[in-house]
Amino acid sequence: MTRTDPKVSAALQRIAPSQTTAMTDRATALKAEGRDIISLSVGEPDFATPAHVIAAARDAMDAGATKYTPVGGTARMKQAAALHFARDLGIAVPVSQVTISAGGKQAIFHALMATLDPGDEVLIPAPWWVSYPEIVRFAGADVVKLATDAAGGFRITAGQLAAAITPQTRWLLLNSPGNPTGATYSAGELRAIGDVLRRHPRVLVMSDDIYAPIRYGGGMHATLAVECPDLADRVLTVSGVSKSHAMTGFRIGVAAGPQWLIGAMEKLQSHSSGNPCSVSQAAAVAAFEGPQDFLLDWRERFRARRDLVVNAINAIPGLSTPVPDGAFYCMVDATALMDRFGNDDGKLAFHLLDHGVAIVQASAFGGGDGFRISFAADEAQLAEAVRRIAAAVA
Ligand code: GLU
Repeated sequence: MTRTDPKVSAALQRIAPSQTTAMTDRATALKAEGRDIISLSVGEPDFATPAHVIAAARDAMDAGATKYTPVGGTARMKQAAALHFARDLGIAVPVSQVTISAGGKQAIFHALMATLDPGDEVLIPAPWWVSYPEIVRFAGADVVKLATDAAGGFRITAGQLAAAITPQTRWLLLNSPGNPTGATYSAGELRAIGDVLRRHPRVLVMSDDIYAPIRYGGGMHATLAVECPDLADRVLTVSGVSKSHAMTGFRIGVAAGPQWLIGAMEKLQSHSSGNPCSVSQAAAVAAFEGPQDFLLDWRERFRARRDLVVNAINAIPGLSTPVPDGAFYCMVDATALMDRFGNDDGKLAFHLLDHGVAIVQASAFGGGDGFRISFAADEAQLAEAVRRIAAAVA
């Protein structure tokens, strides 16, 4: 019998598996073995998917919506997405400039794969979401890290951006509110970033607004396509229902941007997933067109959880975290403890897992010496988790 050559492509060799999903799968496997693990590793609201969304999915199946749909999503789904962009983000966009994908992740993947060539550079503020740099490397382009810190609110400055742009720069990836820090840009900060971008017409901007409904500061969400309308023809705004409507498993993401880019993404999608799941699209239509008032209640529950976690972590000697302005993550600094873990925050993460709490090490996000907590779990679990963390590092 001949042996299969297990060599994978050079592109795949350039990337690492997603650390967020890897840690979550590990926690799930340990739980299945009977271990008592509190999983705070994945960004997934624990709230039940709203009943009217479930009903819409069921109705769609009963009505026979179980077949292929157009590549970029049904006309009805695109209308619902356009409604979401206009109502929730302030971005007025025709349906022809909207596309639907299997989660925001696929929209980001397709946009980058469709536009990057070897030698192109992509600017990514760090700490970053784990998949951004891996997708860029998979596309053969170079990651340029824009380091941020807690003192600066984990936000890049316009001056930092100006200094990093080169003739090779193709994309700036912005995520506000951001994963894993909660960093949230103000309208003024985005306008200052826009002033820099205006001088560099080759640079495209990914505005990943998936956490827009989860902001603790109040006021309207600020987004680049609105703050700098003259730049909108090179901004791709990504959103979805996963985080806002507790629909992670449905895998529906939405994107709005220039016609040529939407077309390029759909061309690629025609050869990858073919179309977003038909049933999930019907559910997402219900999510966007149905009641939105419960989102405010959910946000307040996230706020209470955030305050619980932040206060408890800051009371643990050796650990500290700023108060995140949005999303449901906090980035814990453990610098003071790192010598006990060989200056490897991956070892700290495994140590915490041994003590029954799954988190993701900060280095997975291009940060360092600490870990990310996803506080999208109920208060009792969060209180027990921070008690375990305190005991583990005592
Ligand atoms: N975005 C979530 C997280 O950061 C879900 C997992 C993933 O896709 O990375 O935990």
